[in-house]
Amino acid sequence: MSKLSNAKNTIAVVSQHDFDFRKRFGQNFLVDEGVILRALEAAGVDKDDVIFEIGPGIGTLTQYLCEAAYQVAAIEIDRKLIPILEETLQQYDNVRIINQDVLKTDLLGLAREYEAGRPQDEATGAARRYVPKHDLKIVANLPYYITTPILMGLFRQKVPARSVTVMVQKEVAERMTARAGGKDYGSLSIAVQYYSRPRIVEIVPPESFVPRPKVTSAVVTMELYGEPPVKPVDEELFIAITRAAFEQRRKTLVNALGSNSSVPCGKDSVRQALEKMGLSPSVRGEALSLEEFIKLSDLLKGSEQEQA
Ligand code: SAM
Repeated sequence: MSKLSNAKNTIAVVSQHDFDFRKRFGQNFLVDEGVILRALEAAGVDKDDVIFEIGPGIGTLTQYLCEAAYQVAAIEIDRKLIPILEETLQQYDNVRIINQDVLKTDLLGLAREYEAGRPQDEATGAARRYVPKHDLKIVANLPYYITTPILMGLFRQKVPARSVTVMVQKEVAERMTARAGGKDYGSLSIAVQYYSRPRIVEIVPPESFVPRPKVTSAVVTMELYGEPPVKPVDEELFIAITRAAFEQRRKTLVNALGSNSSVPCGKDSVRQALEKMGLSPSVRGEALSLEEFIKLSDLLKGSEQEQA
């Protein structure tokens, strides 16, 4: 089977199989070899790696992953794509096609099955339960309608991947990498930067896909931390605070946190915590860095315990 990474071959495979693109699954297939090669390079895929691919489509990126890696597990929700994948990937004996919703897939269990993980932190967290023999990397041209749930799922489940390299909508890439103070900065920026070191690899135009999406895309690579360099006492509370802080961006932190049911602190506690940090009571979430949100979360945790 020749490579699918051009419009002619993609359209030929799709029409041979009478396949109709499904918008609701975010199906825009890559037809740009240069983008694929640079994404693989950014991910640092090598012959000893196990790769989880989310949404292989007709197998375009998968073909390159199979050639570059040790094993590939490709998780695809659309059962109509499975017979196509079986054909386009038939020459590779190192790929497993899993017909599932990635949001319902036990990725930790799958990592264990492949003895794959993050070898450098064998002594900590999820990786302690088994000794990984292979680096686990996640590479995907993501379905854009569920970018945030997929990323948050990977982070919160503590999937022991060394890196995550994904195609996302350009605006989302900008939010993932934004620093405090800017318009793109928000709860996604904080979560991504708490769990990883993100970098935009390149901006990708609509012409690199069939069918062409209405938006511009970007490849982002994230090197995941085994242990985040700065950690709050209560990670759940920290995440709840960052979400609440940006639910209504124009609100001050005192109002946004003090009146949100997922943050168990009143306005006075928030005001006092901000004062201890030397911040104005009228400050908004967009002004606080990741480290400051961690500090605020720890102070509010303390005040919550004092009241209990
Ligand atoms: N990787 C292919 C490529 O680059 O040409 C296709 C990428 S396309 C943007 C997204 C793929 O994710 C589609 O094949 C779609 O069917 C699949 N998908 C959508 N939702 C999914 C889910 N919840 N779980 C797994 N795959 C999903």
